[in-house]
Amino acid sequence: MKLVIPEYYERFACKGGMCTDNCCIGWEIDIDPVTLKKYEIADADMRGRLSDGICKDGDSAHFKLDKGRCPFLNKENLCDIIIKLGETSLCDICREHPRYYLALDDTVYSGVGLCCEAAAELILTAKAPPEYVMRDGFDGEFEECDGELRQIVFEAKDRILKKTASSLSVSALLSEAYRIVKEAQMRIDGDFYEEISEAVPSDICGELISFFSAVEYRRAELLHMITGALRGKKRSLGDVAVSYLKNIFVYFIDRYLPQAACDGDIVAKFAIPALSVAVIAAIFAEEESLTLARAVDISKSYSSEIEYNEENIALIEESARCGLLHNALVLISEYS
Ligand code: SF4
Repeated sequence: MKLVIPEYYERFACKGGMCTDNCCIGWEIDIDPVTLKKYEIADADMRGRLSDGICKDGDSAHFKLDKGRCPFLNKENLCDIIIKLGETSLCDICREHPRYYLALDDTVYSGVGLCCEAAAELILTAKAPPEYVMRDGFDGEFEECDGELRQIVFEAKDRILKKTASSLSVSALLSEAYRIVKEAQMRIDGDFYEEISEAVPSDICGELISFFSAVEYRRAELLHMITGALRGKKRSLGDVAVSYLKNIFVYFIDRYLPQAACDGDIVAKFAIPALSVAVIAAIFAEEESLTLARAVDISKSYSSEIEYNEENIALIEESARCGLLHNALVLISEYS
């Protein structure tokens, strides 16, 4: 199979103990069955520790958190499994994180997730759109999809990505992208196409605050940032913020739009980049002078809380046609 990746993908390297956050804190990580078997027959000095640090529940198993930390994360924030047993002993999630994959027919589309500090730095400082690189010989399972549907979705994605290289404002970029997505949805649905709610509520920010108050968080900090930004004065975005936002938009388009080749709902998939960029823009606009470190911090916080929660993403997709998508487009127009 072929692997398609953005140019910066191969420059990704975990910051290990230098990371100001850590993906081994606050996440309950599942262990795949093959790795679990390896842990059961590990060297005697690690076997007991592994057995104590893993919670088994029927066929599934995960690392038990100790005060929110993976029990194998040592005081220097380094992984004792790597130190004692080598990198090949990591479970699938630990080895692959923050990479993501979508396999369609003979091609796997991959990237690195915005929830990771090192990946977020690469994403925010990339050229929009980035160059894409193709590698042969990738092993994996794939999902067969309808060729015509895939073509419509990828044509729409390519047209949107080309627009990110133009001098359009973020608001104009999202509106143009929405027009392209609606055209694609009409082609996909034909006679079954249903209009999307474009009614403008009297209190867009209030509606968005209600939406974000109803989703799940691991920490309350992001919700405070979102509500503060949505209630705050609307300031225009500087050039640096616009450049970061275009890169964030590319990331979300790259990651979520191709999923419509599986279910045909390109409008629902587009709601994820549209809402995410609008809300991150509102938080960026609160900053007097947006530094890369602060932009990375905000983006990874949004990603780890909202994007890396399947239920939250499902809620965004479900609400796309009921006004959420349109609210996001009106919100971003207030920051241009
Ligand atoms: S968030 Fe990224 S850089 Fe930090 S520890 Fe995790 S993978 Fe490494």
